Amino acid sequence: MRKPFIAGNWKMFKTTMEAIEFAEDFKKIYQSSDVQTAICAPFTQLSALKEVFKDTDIKLGAQNMHFAEKGAFTGEISAEMLKEIGVDYCIIGHSERRQYFNETDETVNKKLITAFRHNIIPILCVGEKLEERDAGKEFEIVKRQLTTALKDLTGEQVADLVIAYEPVWAIGTGRNASPEQANEMCGYIRRIINELYGDDVSEKIIIQYGGSVKPTNAYELLNMEEIDGALVGGASLIPEEFIEIVNF
Ligand code: PGA
Repeated sequence: MRKPFIAGNWKMFKTTMEAIEFAEDFKKIYQSSDVQTAICAPFTQLSALKEVFKDTDIKLGAQNMHFAEKGAFTGEISAEMLKEIGVDYCIIGHSERRQYFNETDETVNKKLITAFRHNIIPILCVGEKLEERDAGKEFEIVKRQLTTALKDLTGEQVADLVIAYEPVWAIGTGRNASPEQANEMCGYIRRIINELYGDDVSEKIIIQYGGSVKPTNAYELLNMEEIDGALVGGASLIPEEFIEIVNF
């Protein structure tokens, strides 16, 4: 049985003071359950969140990391630095990073390898753009993103991976994929994983949907057979909204 996994992606929102305020408010309404919950916060908020969440089972995630161990990469953050803070997850290959920061399937692959080396669970984002869906290429695109990203990873690693299917046209637009569309692609991703790594891995891997997940659509999306959780942007910024999604 896969445990549902709901992760908030705060993007470049919240100062440290605002993050602490969120965490304290969220803790009051959060109850440990069968759902795994995580917050992926900006780097500078991670230590403060770790402290506030220390007596809970809420996990902590970053939103990016460099693939090199260390070096002359001004402005970058390494996996070891994240691990030292106690980060459990790291979003890798979010479409905003691909779009604005030149991330490619190749750099995503290198980052996945480094994350696993440091026992950080990657949340690998894949998903097509609107014009790609309109051209009927969504499966082709997602397959290419996946196969390049997973190169040289072992089945054992992939079983621990989280994949977030995030169609770019649904991110921050208020227009979520329909539960059927999201379920179809999550099922397709699981079939690719099955072809590459077999039953044990494809049955274990967590596949989330992300893109305009809100309290109003979470129940329907998260009850689809192939969807194991959600990567939540805007609605993870407000404790009362995020808790409704966690408690779907
Ligand atoms: P959204 O963002 O929920 O605000 O659409 C999702 C994401 O980018 O991970």
